Amino acid sequence: MLDMRKKILFLSLLLLLSLASGSCKRISNKNESESKEVILASFTVLANIISNVSKDEFIVRSITKPGVEVHGYQPTPSDLVNASSAFVFIDNGFGFELWAEKFVSNLKVKRITVAEDLDPIFISEDFYKGKPNPHAWISPKRGMLYVDILVDSLSELRPSKRTLFEENGKIYKDKLSKIDKEFSLFINNLNKDRRYLVTCEGAFSYLTNDYGLEEVYLWPVNAESQITPKRMTRTISLVKEKNVPSVFCESTVSKESQMVVANETGANFGGNLFVDSLSDDSGPAGSYIKMLEHNLDLIKKGLF
Ligand SMILES: [Zn+2]
Repeated sequence: MLDMRKKILFLSLLLLLSLASGSCKRISNKNESESKEVILASFTVLANIISNVSKDEFIVRSITKPGVEVHGYQPTPSDLVNASSAFVFIDNGFGFELWAEKFVSNLKVKRITVAEDLDPIFISEDFYKGKPNPHAWISPKRGMLYVDILVDSLSELRPSKRTLFEENGKIYKDKLSKIDKEFSLFINNLNKDRRYLVTCEGAFSYLTNDYGLEEVYLWPVNAESQITPKRMTRTISLVKEKNVPSVFCESTVSKESQMVVANETGANFGGNLFVDSLSDDSGPAGSYIKMLEHNLDLIKKGLF
């Protein structure tokens, strides 16, 4: 009888221990994911670059979702709630996120603005004349600078992980460097008469500047995606005069105006380039690398 009691007691203890260890496991898992701090980026392209530097050290999220127009985005109350619990807010700057100042003014969250460490190219026309063109990431060469800046920024946030961030950054920059070299080679072999990039938004200045293309666009910034009759006439004349083979638009705006240019000039419509936002995972630009590959591939096919 006593043996039986001992057995029951022993089995009960075993059961308690296994339950306790199970619940410990759950608690520690929960703590692990909760203990990871959240980096909130202003847009999907930047979030993806940060993720490649951070890997598993932080949870990285974007305020704006894939496919959304970013310049004039209106943050929602849930964006504010998410941002208030974030470890740091990282934005592009150069006036890209017109909503960012007001957004962060109500929050007690650390802020890192990548453009503070970049050299700007200034917009030369219209209302935006003299302001920095914000779209620096559109050039793989500048993309590599984003990586350097983010390696430093994340290392300052978490000094013990500097080596890890540097290693992640190096692997990622090697991929960008490959894209950079391939596109440089393409442009070097491209007839000088064909080196025109005609787009809807003037978002390609860093790409055209870095690789020796002429930039032509319908409007300077997507926040005001309207073409004036004067600019339409000028674009059509230039495309005709230079015999530009293809014109392009961007994924976050209507291609209607650019189709007018294509129809009036006989140029091909070369497709939608991605600039301000990635596509969702199933689309052609689910990551920054894929976005660059997609864009440069369309440009190569269109201009060759
Ligand atoms: Zn833009």
